[in-house]
Amino acid sequence: MATETPARIAKAASYKRIATEEAWLMQDIFDRYLKLVETRALNDPAFESLWGYYGKNPSERSVTTLKRILDLGAGRLADMDASGIDVQLLLHTAPGVQVFDAPTANGLAAASNDMAADAVRKHPDRFAGLALVAPQDPPAAGKELERAVKKLGLKGAVINSHIRGEFLNDQKFWGVFEAAEALDVPIYIHPSGPPPEMAKPFIERGLDGAIYGFAVECGLHLLTIITSGAFDRFPKLQIVVGHLGEGLPFWIPRLDYMHAAQVRSKRYEALKPLKRTVSEYLRENVYITTSGMNWEPAVMYCRSVLGNDRVLYAMDYPYQFEPSEVVAMDALPVSDAEKKAFYQTNAEKVFKL
Ligand code: CA
Repeated sequence: MATETPARIAKAASYKRIATEEAWLMQDIFDRYLKLVETRALNDPAFESLWGYYGKNPSERSVTTLKRILDLGAGRLADMDASGIDVQLLLHTAPGVQVFDAPTANGLAAASNDMAADAVRKHPDRFAGLALVAPQDPPAAGKELERAVKKLGLKGAVINSHIRGEFLNDQKFWGVFEAAEALDVPIYIHPSGPPPEMAKPFIERGLDGAIYGFAVECGLHLLTIITSGAFDRFPKLQIVVGHLGEGLPFWIPRLDYMHAAQVRSKRYEALKPLKRTVSEYLRENVYITTSGMNWEPAVMYCRSVLGNDRVLYAMDYPYQFEPSEVVAMDALPVSDAEKKAFYQTNAEKVFKL
């Protein structure tokens, strides 16, 4: 795949390009990440690897990425113009406020949502946003989501995957699902570094980040939610995941076969019968975006197995700011109407833009 930045990409004539997993970072939260890296107070090697790199490494990549991710103004808009992106859906980057104690996390989530909403107010035709919530405090997270949707106009929640090593399959977190379903907004589950129990073999080999560790962590997280029966309890809940579903669409036959086999054999207490197959939940309760994975064969495969209406465009700015991938997606071998759905109308429908 080309890595050079091509000349400025023009806006498309017949569709808007809406990028649906575009990261930003609040300065106050970044300062607190740095402090946690310096003190190693979390004892979370993947977190320290990630924010030690973007926060302190002098490489061109980390320095420019940090500059871009903190900017909700002119610099970001210029990058969007250069790459032909009409609208960014803003998601506060990982690990959000999930590494802080609940009162701190709730305060920072509200402050960051006010900031995101302010950026949207200033540039309503260029930005929309998801709300940061603190899933470690489900009642407060539900209230903040309601405030963010009803008062601030944000379009759903972003949860940056594991919560200090725990996943949303645990029913103690399901107040967040209940709130999202009641508000009829989606929850975007964005990867985080593998939790300490998973991290060692990844970090030793330099594979804990976006190259693969994020996908393993987040794909596992989504699968635990499906097999927990959460979608039987909240059948209208819609979850969005990036990176072409973190690998799960490629596993569909084996997920269905082995889930059914192991439920039948009663091998695990945790694997209970579900109302639908694993792949039916993927097709009916999950949307996937193409963040970081704008590669024609994989995108076409996911569209064929999940349905064209389940696959949405995303860039993963600024971590994978590759305008050449816009050129690749413009060339998808699909009809004009399908391309408009992929880039624009699927996102408008899912996020009520
Ligand atoms: Ca991302």
